Amino acid sequence: MPINPKQLNSGITSTWCPGCGDHFILSALNLALQKLNCNHEDILIVWGVGCAGNGADFMKVYGMHALHGRALPTASGAKLANPKLKVIVLGGDGDGYGIGLSHFIHTARRNLDLTYIVHNNQVYGLTLGQTSPTTEKGYCSKSTPSGVIEEPIKPIELALSSDTTFVARAYYKELKEMSELFYEAIQHRGFSLVDVLQICPTFKRNNTEEFYQEYVSPLPESWDRTDKLKAFEKAQDKNKLWYGVFYQENGKPTYCDELDQITDKTPAEMYRELEKPVGIREILEQFR
Ligand code: SF4
Ligand code: MG
Repeated sequence: MPINPKQLNSGITSTWCPGCGDHFILSALNLALQKLNCNHEDILIVWGVGCAGNGADFMKVYGMHALHGRALPTASGAKLANPKLKVIVLGGDGDGYGIGLSHFIHTARRNLDLTYIVHNNQVYGLTLGQTSPTTEKGYCSKSTPSGVIEEPIKPIELALSSDTTFVARAYYKELKEMSELFYEAIQHRGFSLVDVLQICPTFKRNNTEEFYQEYVSPLPESWDRTDKLKAFEKAQDKNKLWYGVFYQENGKPTYCDELDQITDKTPAEMYRELEKPVGIREILEQFR
């Protein structure tokens, strides 16, 4: 069934706070899915745990709400079972760069063909405002009343050094650009990261829209997205938060390309062709 924009809404009332950047990210994803113009059954969305993960309730798609920090391995399993699926993963900065950080690095170095969209608001919002791995040094919160003493994780540099083949940053208020970045990331063959700078007006009060407006800027039109060293340099700019595609490497084999077991027929298709498909109970019996 082709994706119909009106049918993407589950009808469940959003629990996100008014003004939260999550609303914008959801709208941008809807726009990107419309532009993709594919069928519902061609797309799987996996959510992590956090405010971002609550999006699982608001979208009517084939999807799964994974465990905290485990959205990427869950998505990896789905992709291996059916490499023809376009698999999109959504989660927050705490989920992806803290609890699930090792999965992020390993998924990147495998170049699994997944799209990872991170709602980066620099705070654990769902658990009421503790510092996250991307919170800046010095920030005072309930969990760090004297201020954070560590340096924050830098998602763009981390993705580049982990060999991510599509590295982008979006800004939540630039809806059209953000949806275009999502679209490009989904179309990219290989692991893609879109780190989205968003506000959490309830718990991260210093990162306001006004703050971002002062620092964000689109990458120049002439930007060469094949130059990894320049991408590192740009990501480290202390005066600007650049958004757009920092780096893209096309043609690198994906993890599924490298696996002999994956042929034209996906494991899911082979399973369907079994004369006598094995049920989940029979599989579980073998582990008793
Ligand atoms: Fe958004 Fe923050 Fe509210 Fe969570 S707590 S829904 S991130 S504003
Ligand atoms: Mg967060």
